[in-house]
Amino acid sequence: MADYLVKALAYDGVVRAYAVNATDTVAEAQRRHETWHTASAALGRALVGTLLLGSTLKGKDKLTVKILGDGPAGAIIVDGNAKGEVKGYIQNPKVALPLNAQGKIDVRGAVGTQGSFVVIKDLGLKEPFTGQTPIVSGELGEDFTYYLASSEQIPSAVGLSVLVNPDNTIQTAGGFMLQIMPGASEELISRLEQKLASLPRVSSLLDSGMTPEQILETILDDTTIFYLETQPVCFKCDCNKDKFATALITLGTKELQEMIDEDHGAETVCSFCGNKYHFSEQDLQGLITEIEENK
Ligand SMILES: [Zn+2]
Repeated sequence: MADYLVKALAYDGVVRAYAVNATDTVAEAQRRHETWHTASAALGRALVGTLLLGSTLKGKDKLTVKILGDGPAGAIIVDGNAKGEVKGYIQNPKVALPLNAQGKIDVRGAVGTQGSFVVIKDLGLKEPFTGQTPIVSGELGEDFTYYLASSEQIPSAVGLSVLVNPDNTIQTAGGFMLQIMPGASEELISRLEQKLASLPRVSSLLDSGMTPEQILETILDDTTIFYLETQPVCFKCDCNKDKFATALITLGTKELQEMIDEDHGAETVCSFCGNKYHFSEQDLQGLITEIEENK
């Protein structure tokens, strides 16, 4: 089953509900970054959370989520967009911690409990929107929830879950997001809270064969869920050789000449997807010529 996200309304429109199966998306990130199991779960949850946040964008809107914690994983940076495409980076992919006291993957141990959670949204306006909150949990689901409540004033519940196999590969990955609109009764909110408290992990539900729609139907006891949209999601990086050429040009003639003389070329690596781009001596000479011509 290919990855996809569903968007729905429930309880006469006072709850916006989203659920996603992102198994292939997270599996591709795991392969590209060769993450060890705790890092796989941390990067995977960040990718799923960004897909959920990105699903509220429109058109050509984009967002970046930066999780800058004090744990051994270092910075986690994920880019997403309204089209359901996501790419991500974890500073230290080689993090494998013992399971936590609950017998679960210790994402908090990898991410840390101090630091900042930053969301930058490019909505096609002059200035991007930036929201920043402190890391409150390090497990990431609660950090996305806290960000939405505190920076965007949307009471929400976000669940992010990645099931990692003993060989570090991804068994399942997914999540949900509920956003409570004005008009929701206290009774409804406390009923949802109770449902969520007893909800198995989304990765387990996916592993049992559930679809994103069935996950929403498990969370919401509303019999009239109104599905708005189904959207494919995937890991996709937009890097290409031209972008790296532009970056090399900014180094200047002297540096490029040294690359020719000493290394007889240059190899650049995209930190988001791991793709490598080779620049031959002729390529570098061409960039030098370009700099000289534009002087
Ligand atoms: Zn790339």
